[in-house]
Amino acid sequence: LVSRENHAERSVVRVGGVPIGPGTMTLIAGPCAVETHEQTLEAALMARSAGASLLRGGAFKPRTSPYAFQGLGEAGLRILADVRAETGLPIVTEVVDARDVELVAEYADMLQIGTRNTQNFALLQAVGEAGRPVMIKRGMSGTIEEWLMSAEYVAQRGNLDIVLCERGIRTFEKATRNTLDISAVPVAQRLSHLPVIVDPSHSGGHRDLVLPLTRAAVAIGADGVIIDVHPSPETALCDGPQALVREDLAELAELVRVLPPVV
Ligand code: PEP
Repeated sequence: LVSRENHAERSVVRVGGVPIGPGTMTLIAGPCAVETHEQTLEAALMARSAGASLLRGGAFKPRTSPYAFQGLGEAGLRILADVRAETGLPIVTEVVDARDVELVAEYADMLQIGTRNTQNFALLQAVGEAGRPVMIKRGMSGTIEEWLMSAEYVAQRGNLDIVLCERGIRTFEKATRNTLDISAVPVAQRLSHLPVIVDPSHSGGHRDLVLPLTRAAVAIGADGVIIDVHPSPETALCDGPQALVREDLAELAELVRVLPPVV
């Protein structure tokens, strides 16, 4: 269902009316985690000023340590909904448990499947039935074929509104958080009709790398990027070191404006 074989044309997925697909460079930006209403609103305004048309923000956070901030849960979803009403930006947010899919889908415009859950097949099937577009991160040790099979699980449940997101893979290299496999973008676009975006924040893991990796994503023809921004990363409860700050926004805006928006 997701393969290019029976789809000559690459697909456009619309999220709250915002297109992601061939000819777009859709910017999705916002805080890694929803912390407070004020922080989320400020991050959303930063995102919008850089040209973002969708707001990202995690209310359910999958963390390596069980002692790390796990997200605000439904309270975070309510904050996202309030900020959507205030800014007009549709919401992209992660769901980590099949039991929460209905709840998250009540608030989200696009459901995010994180790298750690890319082969959580029960979760993939549940989001396939949720009636919302789905973004699937590539597994941190997943092959492109495995990633496409994850999308197939969603598609098989009747939902073809799927966006693939390359977010870096685990290699021997420690200088970056993950190794951005930029070649995965054209490969996935050749094998599948689904839009393919890049997450420069979770691949680089450091602010200084986010704009260069965004440039690479634009140059290689990704259909969009998803980027962490934070009004005060030094106090962030999650992934502060990779969040862009206000001073970075003008350059980000310049980069994502390279392609004319598709209406
Ligand atoms: C995220 O985007 O918030 C996230 C946790 O990303 P990943 O699943 O790619 O680590």
